[in-house]
Amino acid sequence: DDHAGLSRQIRTTPYVNGLWVDVGESGTIDVDDPATGEIVATVPAMSRAQVRDAIEAAHRALPAWRSRSGKDRCTVLRAWAELVAANAEHLARLIALEEGKPLAEARGEVAYAGSFIEWFAEEAKRVSGEVLMTPQASGRIVVLKEPVGVCTAITPWNFPAAMITRKAAPALAAGCTMVVKPAEQTPLTAFALAELAAEAGVPPGVLNVVTGHPEEIGPELTTHELVRKISFTGSTQVGRLLLAQAAGTVKRASMELGGNAPILVFDDADIDTALSGVMAAKFRNSGESCIGGNRVYVQAGIYDAFAAALAERAASLIVGPGLETDSHIGPLIDQAAIAKVEAHIADATAGGASVLSGGTVDPRGGRFFTPTVLGNVLPGMLVTREETFGPVLPLIRFESEAEVVAWANDSEYGLAAYVFTRDAERTWRVAGALEAGMVGINTGLISNEIAPFGGIKQSGLGREGSVHGIDEYLELKYVAWENA
Ligand code: ADP
Repeated sequence: DDHAGLSRQIRTTPYVNGLWVDVGESGTIDVDDPATGEIVATVPAMSRAQVRDAIEAAHRALPAWRSRSGKDRCTVLRAWAELVAANAEHLARLIALEEGKPLAEARGEVAYAGSFIEWFAEEAKRVSGEVLMTPQASGRIVVLKEPVGVCTAITPWNFPAAMITRKAAPALAAGCTMVVKPAEQTPLTAFALAELAAEAGVPPGVLNVVTGHPEEIGPELTTHELVRKISFTGSTQVGRLLLAQAAGTVKRASMELGGNAPILVFDDADIDTALSGVMAAKFRNSGESCIGGNRVYVQAGIYDAFAAALAERAASLIVGPGLETDSHIGPLIDQAAIAKVEAHIADATAGGASVLSGGTVDPRGGRFFTPTVLGNVLPGMLVTREETFGPVLPLIRFESEAEVVAWANDSEYGLAAYVFTRDAERTWRVAGALEAGMVGINTGLISNEIAPFGGIKQSGLGREGSVHGIDEYLELKYVAWENA
């Protein structure tokens, strides 16, 4: 595709048991470019039976993969990471094409996605157990770690590469096999990752990518007896449904669900740091991120100056197609995303909030929305309760620390939170009081492969990345060892 500047052929078919499946028994799904609405590819919608075949292929591939050494799996995963790096520009353009994000961010995502493969390649060598003495000192307790088995993954469209690698890399490192179902909007990046994995030496059946209508094939991925674990990233609503489906066969589950991240900016913050942090936390991926700052509480002493400075920065962002190199804000994923953003703004302004910047569909039209700052938003407004998933930054004025912590915690979500302050005692007090799995202090960027990513409350179960991420794909087996 010349328009997108892609360097490799675009794969448009699912990958199962080492083969490209070019017929969907349930029809096809169109993939569009959110910048133009133009259809860029049509991919097969697999039937439930075809997905069952993929799970069975993963099951057949398991014995050989799990019995290889950690070092051996490390070698394969490292080769995968190297191929991702070598094809970074192709992957970035594919992401920009099907997801819409600016190319600079897409390049960042490829590096971030690759970092999980590299990290878990190393971790494959470090899976270790324990040896303990029995209570009577007569024998030993030997604790082994074993792969969970066949895993399935259901991933969202907002980070088409990284949301796959941070599940597949630890799974494969641990000795599990996997069937991945990417979001309907972004299957092309998933196919490309599978192709690179195959080139790296991941054997047939170890990593499979299936596509189809989620209500049709989802139940196969969550209920098949051979599947021992489901890993999901997406909305809380769908996560609840998948957990309930998985309960029937008591599968393990990792859930990275929705968020409603509060940002707390105190009077004693370094203002430049706070401005940059808020901009990064909110406008990355046009606000389409589960850890994106969703509501910004600014202390009364700096509120007016801070609001004016933010409005100015938001107005300076360039809106445009991801593949145009100077864009900061790409199109939203679909028309429903635009409608949600508009509803949140309408609800806020009806309640007395003011539009300090933006507030409307961009002059480009389509799915482009102007970066928006809302002033005088009140706690309880829709925009503070629901994940907006768009470029809207609502500002809420607060007086006291106790008040803002209570507002921040007044949510069923508990994914990320951000605090801007230079007071060390306040830092520890507030970081301790916030109900969130991740807290950024004086930073709006908290995701990397070294840190444990995940939420509490209805934002999810389990952690991805870090030394803990591989445990999600390992079971403990204990052997009581006595002399005969
Ligand atoms: P988003 O709002 O970000 O699109 P979703 O939770 O709807 O979040 O989608 C995330 C992933 O979950 C996608 O891969 C989507 O296809 C999948 N999904 C949505 N509904 C279902 C379902 N009923 N069963 C299985 N997967 C689903």
